[in-house]
Amino acid sequence: MDDDALIAAVDLVGRTGARGIEIGYLHDNVPVEEAAWYAHVQYRGTSITEENHRGPVEAAEALARQLLTGAMCNHCKKLVALSDDGATAYNGTLLNGTRWTVEQARAAGQCRWRRIGPRWARGCEGTKPPRATGKPKRKKGRRKRG
Ligand SMILES: [Zn+2]
Repeated sequence: MDDDALIAAVDLVGRTGARGIEIGYLHDNVPVEEAAWYAHVQYRGTSITEENHRGPVEAAEALARQLLTGAMCNHCKKLVALSDDGATAYNGTLLNGTRWTVEQARAAGQCRWRRIGPRWARGCEGTKPPRATGKPKRKKGRRKRG
């Protein structure tokens, strides 16, 4: 099992303002992969559920993808894309209750999200000014002789 996917989903759910993620299964006394695993999140006005998965990680990952599909990147306000083919814009309602029309979503552009290990990363993450962690550039023609 890929625990990273589970950690990433829980982290994402927390960032979307949900109270928590609930993961469970419907059927007892069956093989694990036939237990019909689900993942569920509750928001103030709505809830999202992913059902009938083969395991808790699969359910959590599917829930994360459902949360991101048609969503607005909370950082750059673009439409979240989960593949390089891009996202399909459609009329929807954001988690905060705002209506977001297909025209608005198209006009916004797209932000390619991907899961990197235990974390969902924004496509626009690298657009901030780089931190001063690299090697400082040397000034030209100022070499001192020791
Ligand atoms: Zn973004």
